[in-house]
Amino acid sequence: MVYLKTEEEIELIRESSLLVGKTLAEVAKWVEPGVTPLELDRVAETYIRDHGAVPGFKGYNGFPNTLCTSVNDQVVHGIPSNSPLQNGDIISVDCGVIKNEFYGDVAYTFPVGLINDKLRHLLETTKECLELGVKEAIAGNRIGDIGQAVQAHAEAKGYGVVRELVGHGLGKSLHEAPEVPNYGKKGKGLKLKKGMVLAIEPMINMGKRHIKQDKDGWTIVTADSKPSAHYEHNVVVRESNVEVLSSHKYIEEVLNKKG
Ligand code: MG
Ligand code: MG
Repeated sequence: MVYLKTEEEIELIRESSLLVGKTLAEVAKWVEPGVTPLELDRVAETYIRDHGAVPGFKGYNGFPNTLCTSVNDQVVHGIPSNSPLQNGDIISVDCGVIKNEFYGDVAYTFPVGLINDKLRHLLETTKECLELGVKEAIAGNRIGDIGQAVQAHAEAKGYGVVRELVGHGLGKSLHEAPEVPNYGKKGKGLKLKKGMVLAIEPMINMGKRHIKQDKDGWTIVTADSKPSAHYEHNVVVRESNVEVLSSHKYIEEVLNKKG
């Protein structure tokens, strides 16, 4: 069942979502060649606990860490490892928190050092896919409008759209109804109503859309071993617009400063 949120609940989700954005901005300061994802994980957990919240992923279905860190051909759900990041890598960092009983759930894909133009294009396009999907989250539109917007933009650039993993409703549970696929048809699927809070999160592959699961039981990788990017926002459906509750602003301020 889909829970429509009250304004009070929306404010609490906003607080959680913004805390995740700020946590990822702390992580952004540390993303450099030579740093390990496990070190990033410690930065994030400390920051979250220092701000009166609890990591949302740690212990969720047995996941061991605060962050999902997915490097290069890893799509999502990577377990932070002890392997140092290398110049030219990309790393998707997905983070959740619980504060005041409500989840925030935000992701951003970072360049490590200097990345090549093909990777930069993948990151830019995936971010554009997120923005285009978000714009469709208006009351009266359909879930398929979001997916179609994401899919059309990604496929126009020759990229693959992951099908098996999707966005979701968000609230007192990390994953609520409805599912929010990154593919679909305009005018199809559940009708969006004001007060729905959604996590929209395109996962876009440089190569084909197909994925497989690593033997660790968590990490999702591309079947063709080509890189994949992932960005996520939390939004609330309004009567005639969409309101983005999360923010990548804090992250991008750090990245711009790094140059
Ligand atoms: Mg997430
Ligand atoms: Mg999510």
